[in-house]
Amino acid sequence: MKAEILAVGTEILLGDIVNTNAQFLSKELASIGISVYRQEVIGDNEDRLLEAFEEAFKRSDVIITTGGLGPTGDDLTKETACKYFGMEMVLHEESYEALKGFFSKIKKEISQSNMKQVYFPKEGIVLSNPNGTAPGAILKKDNKTIIILPGPPKEMKPMYLNHVKNYLMPEGFGVIKSEVVRILGLGESTAAEKLKDIIDAGVNPTIAPYAKQEDVIFRITASGKTEEEALEIIKPIKEKVKARLGIDCYGEGEDNTIEQVVGTLLIERDLSISTAESCTGGMIASRLVAYPGISQVFLEGAVTYSNESKTRTLGVSCETLEKYGAVSEQIAKEMALGIANRTDSDVSVVTTGIAGPGGGTKEKPVGLVYIGLYYKGAVKAYRYEFNGDRDKIRTSASIKALDKVRRVILEGKLL
Ligand code: ATP
Repeated sequence: MKAEILAVGTEILLGDIVNTNAQFLSKELASIGISVYRQEVIGDNEDRLLEAFEEAFKRSDVIITTGGLGPTGDDLTKETACKYFGMEMVLHEESYEALKGFFSKIKKEISQSNMKQVYFPKEGIVLSNPNGTAPGAILKKDNKTIIILPGPPKEMKPMYLNHVKNYLMPEGFGVIKSEVVRILGLGESTAAEKLKDIIDAGVNPTIAPYAKQEDVIFRITASGKTEEEALEIIKPIKEKVKARLGIDCYGEGEDNTIEQVVGTLLIERDLSISTAESCTGGMIASRLVAYPGISQVFLEGAVTYSNESKTRTLGVSCETLEKYGAVSEQIAKEMALGIANRTDSDVSVVTTGIAGPGGGTKEKPVGLVYIGLYYKGAVKAYRYEFNGDRDKIRTSASIKALDKVRRVILEGKLL
């Protein structure tokens, strides 16, 4: 079965509201094995709505609409769907009783304009709406189905979950499940190139790369008769992907973060850590602290923004500062050593860089960041040039710094 989602409402077209209904319905339909062919947004306009029904039924068997069920004249989804199918509407007693109950509860006279919400075609299935005044409906003719749902998510979601899901379930071909593998240190295209043969061979499961804001993910999606079957299909391919990507694969799962991975590694291996940050201004520390339980291993996070604080707090030498400047490999190394000595930590990670927008030169452009790493007596600094605005540079530098910590722990030495 193929389905399309048609969000009705000029508000969405104007960008006043975000079409979260489509997102919800797409995910829900996928989870019961119904392919969503298209999502569309149409303003409150009868002609365009009729045209949209006509076009959508050339491709699909089911159209799910949301919105346009309100009491006013421009709410015309149900009326237009009935016109499309040539169905006549009559008063639906049960809905009328529910509407009367709704108004008596709020101690108001039933409003005439609301009466249009309780008219439905005899051929349809009416879907009650305990959370609002507009019931929904399932209208079917000649193997074409229009499912009409209200716009407000707090009305639409329970209506879908309580009525529509069970109605559609037998039409699906099973269950779709997906799992996510997360990558740092490789761009989307390089990572995809590494997996090309696995991606190209994928039908069930399929593998798709996505460049996210902070990392790259590969989503592995399979369909099966049951959830277990779909997960079994995913499993060997996921292992193959992880093995191929090696250390560049830092985690898996929708919500997995680099700070969770680093926090877990530090605690598991009983390694203490300290940080000293210049351009990232505490972002690394803040991420670490977001991981519950980090207090067992996180000793200190210093924000040493000025040269003076680098000298005073970390013991960075004035001569090195003078000779190489604050943004340099030498200073990053002295910072890493300084904070590790001060706290007696097993690992330390530090940043010094130029986040912009000003302050860049030809030799030291905006985006240049040195990340210093101390690991069990050894110290090293790494040079990076990050792109983007100040925020993006600082975020990228803090993620890279945490990823360096992860790698040094896994590799057991500074590379
Ligand atoms: P009502 O009976 O409240 O008038 P309705 O079914 O006519 O509801 P609309 O008038 O189209 O729906 O939208 C009502 C509200 O529902 C919008 O202001 C918005 O807050 C929310 N809404 C509508 N469509 C969507 C959508 N596609 N995604 C998220 N929210 C939506």
